[in-house]
Amino acid sequence: MEGNRKRIGVIGGGASGMAAAIAAARAGCAVTLLERREKPGMKLLATGNGRCNLSNRDLQVQRDYRSRSAFRLPVFFEQFGVKDTVRFFESCGLLLTERNGGLYPRSMQAEAVREALLEELKRWDVDVVCGCRIENIRRDRLFYISSGREELCFDRLILACGSAAGLSPKNAADGFALVRGLGLEMVPLLPSLVALRCEEAFFPALAGVRCAAQVELHVQGAREEVWRERGEVQLTDYGISGIPVFQCSRFAAAALQEGKRVSAFLDFLPEYAPEQWEALCGRQFRLCRDKRVLTLASGMVAAKTARVLLRLCGLHAEDPVGEETKDRIFALFGLMRRFPVTVTGTNPISQAQVCAGGVSLNEVTDHLEAKKVPGLFLCGEMLDADGRCGGYNLQWAWTSGIIAGRHAAGESGT
Ligand SMILES: Cc1cc2nc3c(=O)[nH]c(=O)nc-3n(C[C@H](O)[C@H](O)[C@H](O)COP(=O)(O)OP(=O)(O)OC[C@H]3O[C@@H](n4cnc5c(N)ncnc54)[C@H](O)[C@@H]3O)c2cc1C
Repeated sequence: MEGNRKRIGVIGGGASGMAAAIAAARAGCAVTLLERREKPGMKLLATGNGRCNLSNRDLQVQRDYRSRSAFRLPVFFEQFGVKDTVRFFESCGLLLTERNGGLYPRSMQAEAVREALLEELKRWDVDVVCGCRIENIRRDRLFYISSGREELCFDRLILACGSAAGLSPKNAADGFALVRGLGLEMVPLLPSLVALRCEEAFFPALAGVRCAAQVELHVQGAREEVWRERGEVQLTDYGISGIPVFQCSRFAAAALQEGKRVSAFLDFLPEYAPEQWEALCGRQFRLCRDKRVLTLASGMVAAKTARVLLRLCGLHAEDPVGEETKDRIFALFGLMRRFPVTVTGTNPISQAQVCAGGVSLNEVTDHLEAKKVPGLFLCGEMLDADGRCGGYNLQWAWTSGIIAGRHAAGESGT
């Protein structure tokens, strides 16, 4: 104890670690935040394309989060939810704004979020130590942690090391190495919110296309599609990307890891209901009878996509529509709505936004204290909880960070 103040060490100065340090310092503890990189909160700057989508007004835990122990998740959001996040940032002097439910700093600059957190750490006298990579944890009534150079001692420890998602291997987090020696059960790590790599040779011809589409993911052995999402899809020289693809990527990653076949169907005109679509096809076929097949197709989908679809249907771009059979033209229309691709992998974790998996939620109490290691708390991406795109992952970082910080400051087992 420092005087009679409890000493708390927070390993990792990212979103959850900064939140945890502030919560523990506000509760009266002497807090040290240890960050491996030259500054805290570096990943925050890249979030939301530099705008930091830090939460979402429309949060439904079972819909928006995944975990092998998903039944444990509601109890955490009951302790610190979206409204608490808004109040927390307001208490740090940061105004927020809402776009389609997503919450952002009013300036729409991620730097403002980082700055507000750094100033709050300063205000509460948190000792921020950068360039300090913790390599070892030893517990002997107190916690001893070492960075190679020196050993530090704390009454309580909070692990907030994040994951390797979005980081070059040089900067990749190694927090999971720290927990391995503590005997905590780990759910295997997988990249999530990441682009999918596909088998088909036509992808280089589609590279650069961005279009409104629906992605339907299918996994071998599952009776129905496992995920369906609409939005802007990006076609790349290796496969499919964009938010709808990110949203289904963790299911693809998990199935591929289990050795299952994974495929997706793209619908390039998802806004048409079946009756409207039938009428539209009939009209397009009539109207374009004297036009080139390519003109018909590129009037409906992006030109690069149109060329690939024609090739797959055995149609020639320059031939008049009227010289083709109705069946062949309608096969083209069918492919626009159900374009199959074979998913062979995901991009690496360095290009993912988050990782799925981590320390099992069964290993921690409702206050995020490790059941097997009293006095040790975990938060953020180190835990087996990952969210959809839309501010849900940062919301988890604030939720879990504040809970860990508050309860590390309290009595063990409270
Ligand atoms: C490109 C990109 C965009 C994103 N956009 C959004 C978005 O708009 N909205 C959203 O909700 N989520 C977004 N995310 C996800 C979000 O950034 C993460 O979920 C969140 O940052 C996780 O917080 P964390 O505290 O667990 O980990 P991090 O923020 O990764 O922090 C962990 C910290 O621990 C440090 N560390 C690791 N090991 C050690 C060690 N041994 N010793 C000392 N320090 C260590 C690391 O250097 C790092 O600073 C995005 C992610 C990426 C990559």
